[in-house]
Order: sequence, then C-alpha cells, then structure tokens
Amino acid sequence: MSVPSPTHCPYCALQCAMTLTPTVRPDVVDAASDAAPAPVTVAGRDFPTNRGGLCKKGWTSAELLRAPSRLGAPLVRGADGALHETGWDEALDLVAASVRRISAESGADAVGVFGGGGLTNEKAYLLGKFARLAIGTSRIDYNGRYCMSSAAAAGNRAFGVDRGLPFPLEDLDGASTILLLGTNVAETMPPFIGHLAGAQAAGGLIVVDPRRTATARLTEEGRGLHVQPAPGTDLALLLGLIHIVIAERLVDADYVATRTVGFEAVRRSVASWWPERVQSVTGVAALTLRRLARRLAGGGNTYILTGRGVEQHVDGTDTATAAINLALLLGLPGRQGSGYGTLTGQGNGQGGREHGQKCDQLPGYRKIVDPEARAHVARVWGVHPDTIPGPGVPAVELLQSLGRPGGVRALLVHGSNLVVSSPNVAAVREGLAALDLLVVCDFFLSETAALADVVLPITQWAEEEGTMTSLEGRVIRRRRAIAPPAGVRDELWILAELARRLGCVATFDTDPELVFEELRLASEGGIADYSGIDYQLLDSGAPAYWPYPRGSAGTPRLFADRFAHPDGLARLVAVSVREFARPKPGDGEVTLVTGRLLEHYQSGAQTRRVPELLDAQPAAFASMHPATAERLGIADGDPVELTNPRGTVHCVARLSPDIRPDAVFVPFHYGDEQAANLLTSDAVDPISAMPEFKTNVVRITRLVEAGVPA
Ligand code: SF4
Repeated sequence: MSVPSPTHCPYCALQCAMTLTPTVRPDVVDAASDAAPAPVTVAGRDFPTNRGGLCKKGWTSAELLRAPSRLGAPLVRGADGALHETGWDEALDLVAASVRRISAESGADAVGVFGGGGLTNEKAYLLGKFARLAIGTSRIDYNGRYCMSSAAAAGNRAFGVDRGLPFPLEDLDGASTILLLGTNVAETMPPFIGHLAGAQAAGGLIVVDPRRTATARLTEEGRGLHVQPAPGTDLALLLGLIHIVIAERLVDADYVATRTVGFEAVRRSVASWWPERVQSVTGVAALTLRRLARRLAGGGNTYILTGRGVEQHVDGTDTATAAINLALLLGLPGRQGSGYGTLTGQGNGQGGREHGQKCDQLPGYRKIVDPEARAHVARVWGVHPDTIPGPGVPAVELLQSLGRPGGVRALLVHGSNLVVSSPNVAAVREGLAALDLLVVCDFFLSETAALADVVLPITQWAEEEGTMTSLEGRVIRRRRAIAPPAGVRDELWILAELARRLGCVATFDTDPELVFEELRLASEGGIADYSGIDYQLLDSGAPAYWPYPRGSAGTPRLFADRFAHPDGLARLVAVSVREFARPKPGDGEVTLVTGRLLEHYQSGAQTRRVPELLDAQPAAFASMHPATAERLGIADGDPVELTNPRGTVHCVARLSPDIRPDAVFVPFHYGDEQAANLLTSDAVDPISAMPEFKTNVVRITRLVEAGVPA
C-alpha cells in the first residue's frame, strides 16, 4: 500500500511542505533507468510558510530520485586515471587507510572536512563530531560560509543571537511596510511572496536591488518603490537612511533609550552621510532617500529584511549591521508586528550553522574556545575536553591551504559542489588537484565529484529521516517515503563506518532519531538549545522554534522583552564605509553581479539534471543594459567573453533594461567554463570571512562565435 509521507522540499530554506506518495511499493528498490518513472508523486501541503504552494523546483524534485545519471555504487580512481565502480568495504577501507597515513605523516590538521548548509541537523552534528573525534582535525568548515556568515556575525554582534527570522514568517502578513535589501524572493522562493501582499496593498513594498528583478516588479502599479543603487554601495545607502532618520527626529527615542546601547557612536558615524552625498555615491536621488526613510518610520507595521545581495561583500557584516542599526533606531526588533530579519537561503542554512560544522563552533551554537562549552560537549561525547581540537580556519582559508606546505592534504566533502560555488574557482581547482586524497559524497557526479579520488553515493531526501531548521528557526521533520537504490548509503552510516575504521571509540549512531537525541543533549544550555524537541513533538505537528529548552514551549518570537546579551540590551554598532581593495571599473569594464534563477538551486548539481528546469534555463548568460551592449558592440544573443585576472567565462549576452548600465548579471548555477565564480574574488569580510561575490570588475568582449574574439 502506498502511504503518503508528509515532508518538506529538498531545496531552499523556505522548506515548503509537501506530501510524497510512492508510485511503487515503498520497500521496492528499483534500479535507475531511462524508463524509470519518478517513484513518488509530489503534492504541495498546507503549511504556514507555503500554504500549499511549491515552485517549479519543488514540483520537479522527485525526478532526481531515479535519474539515469544517479550514482549507484562507490567510485575509486584507478591507475588509468578513470573512476571505477567498487564495493563499499573497499572504498571505505581505502579512505580510512589514506586518512590514517596522511594524519600520521603530517598531523590530523592535514585532513580537512567540508560540509554543507543542505545537510540535515543530524548529519551536520555528526560531521562536526566525526571531524573532531574520529579524525582529530580542527580543519572543518562548510559552504554556509558563502551564504550566511555576514548576517550571522551582524546578528550575533547586535542581538547576541543569530536566528535568521526571529519571528514566524506569517507575521509579515500584517505588515504595511517591508524593506527588502538584496533579495529576489520572487525567483529564489516564490511562495514567500504571498506574505508580501499586505505591504503591497498598503503601497509599502520597498525593494533595494541594482536589477529590476521579479521581486522589484512587485512594487509596480503603486504597490511600493524600487530603489536601484550602484553595486557595492548598499552600506552608504543605509548610512544615508540612518542620517535622515536621526536628522528628521524619526528615531524611536524611548526604545533606543531603554533597549539599546551605542546610539551616540552611531549618530556621530552617520553625521557626514547627508542625502546629497549618498546620492552621489549610490545614484539614488536624495528625494527618494528622504521618502524612503519617512515611509520606514511612519509606515505602520514595518519589517526590514536582508539577503545575499547586500551581505556577500567584503563589508557584508558592516552592511547587515547598518540595516540592524536602522531597524533598532526605528524601534522595530521585538515589537509586535515589526522586526528585522535575514533570509537564509540553503535548505538547512539555519540548522547547518548551529551544530558544529563551523570551524569555530560546537553544537548548540557554542563557541569552541569557551572552556564551559568544551566541557559540556565533551561530557556528552564521553571524552576529555582536551580531546576536542581548537578552532580551525574558515572555508576560503581552508581551501587556500589545499596541497600547500603545512596545509590540508586530504579533503572529505559533504553536500558541496566546491568548483562551482566557491569564489575564485580556478584556484580551488588547482588546490583540489594538489591533494593526496579527495573524497566526495554526492548523488551525482557533480563537477567536484568528477575530480575526486573516491566518490561515495548517498541517499536523497525522500529516502531518509531527519530534521531541518527553516529560515524561521523552526525545526521540522524530513520523512522517508521510499527505499533508496541498493547501492547508496546514508551519510550517518558512512561517518559511523569511517569512524570505526579509524579506531574511534566514541559513539556514532546511524539511526537519525538517536543522533537527534544526542544533539538535544549537546545543544542543551547553548544559544541554539534544542533540548525540549524530540521526534514525537515534531511528528505531532506542533511548531518548534528554537531556543526550545527542555520543559519549555519554544520561542516563536525573540526579543519581546530582552535581547540575548547578558544585560538584555541590543548593540548599536557604528560602522563606516572603508576603502577596500575593491577595484573600481575602468574604461570598458563593468561590475559583475552574480545571483540565482527561478529554475536552479545553488550550484545546479541537482536542478541542471531535471529536464524541465534545464530546458528553461540551459546555460549561463550575461544580462546587460542595452546601452552597455551598444557601447561594447554587442547584440542580444551574441556569444561573449567575460574576463578579469582570475578567469574567463564564455556565455551569451541577454539585453535587458532591467539592469543598471554599470553592471552585468551572471547566474552562478553553471559549471566548467560557464562558472561565474571563475571571476569572483576570494577576498573576505574581515569579521565573517564571507567572500566577495557581488562586486567584481570584468571586461566583456563580443565573440564572433563561441571561443573566437571579434
Ligand atoms: Fe522548494 Fe524553496 Fe521552491 Fe519551496 S520555494 S518549493 S522550498 S525550492
């Protein structure tokens, strides 16, 4: 009998609810073949975030379960340089022996682990434990470093806690003004826009983006305002808004006096950012800036939300901090019907940054350098605190060390397609090629898996149990609907088998519920406390927002009475526009802005294998303003080359008046010579270590045909 399984989408952090119904017997293990139908049907399910809706990525997600290109057995690179199928014992024995050898020769830190923001909470937790106990390495970090680190750093600095949305998403329904900074939710998470309807109806949807995106178009016809600043000037824009709010006495003085510290320093820091100066820097008219500030202050229930567009910069933490300062001065965070939030992107981008796969962190969002935190986690793990290595290095630094003297010689990759999603991809490819051992766990032979020495095929979302934490900080259940193909394994099992082979005596459960029970204990008393949550609670459908201490009812809304700093007060932090090594476009150059499309998710390793999605967006393109194209002698559809000192990308030109003439947009979902990240810089934010993805200078040349310059 086919029993429907209530679960959630495998892709983004909205985690839309869906029901999977097997079309074959759930216990039947069928081989992938061209003729194999999707083994489950997908239906949207009513849930507060998506209200039954799914985007086309969610609707088509089941097609990957039996995709012909799915890996069905471990692969090991042979003496002939090719990957060959082998057995699980052989593959795991090889990995364990190589890790032992490299560790003995060069120390445990010569072995690195790279995780992902799409891993379940159980996998993220066990991966951190595996790295620190089974390998003994400090060299673990994850791809969330590319997404959420700046917003997280800003949230921790201001509020003392980092939960992307400190309120349920439904709260946005009652808003009359919503400021969206650098986020294109209409394409990245379409069901989200249902929550913008109230603000649209009140004429209060304000979108800040250098492109007139699908989200920006939601402001048309009197429903709001689209503000189009020059790329890389978001911080100046926000400082200008704060200047106006203070100058025009729009500050919520009582709130600032009773709930914050740091006002004077912020006031001084924005004194010179008068509107006309901001106009000259950003290109946004002073009149528009004043109108915007007044709307935010007097527009009723107001929310300010940030996304990667303003965060993925070398000054991303300060930019997110400025957005928080603006929200605090207006008295928004913690007030009923108002607030500040950041929109997490990856499926478990929130939970993935709480349970120990970050280089500086232990489960429960604990700091790895905190002796009490180390003692607590060591008790749960049954080891002496000194057994747990100290802090490692963040993702970009870890990748820069690959194959270098004193650096990482072996790398284990889970849930990441590094040679598409990392900045400065050419350097990452070189680093991976210099490794003694690259092990990749994936469903498909992604661009990174294709470079590996060992590829381990793993289960997909519909074939496994676990939990995810959505962009609201709500913990939800992922449920198994069908059996996986015979040749693949769950990553919990892989980690347990490797730990056993490495002689680790700590417990590595393979049952997700047992792993979650351990995670609960490890997180207890931490910032992200899950101790009051269990699978029975989640199965009952009760909402579970962290912090959820044992015996409590969880925390749907944070900050109502106090912030998470010891004194209960939020920090207003003065930030300033600094002169970075960010090069300015010269003659014939424009600023490259990277981003996402409706049809694809992150590196595209999955969505590029769904025919309907690939047919709609088969290749990378360079979206540029017609005036830019004319200046460069480029026509719509021309093959073009984008180049800078880091690399070259070949794609076609698409002309659009929706982008500023000083910018070009390229989606980052594609690999090989179309990888937009061949052009991005691995310079990082000094606080969060997030790379600069959004403002890189490129030169564009028309090609006569693919590969041939005009
Ligand atoms: Fe899945 Fe996100 Fe689309 Fe919802 S919006 S169906 S979670 S990809």
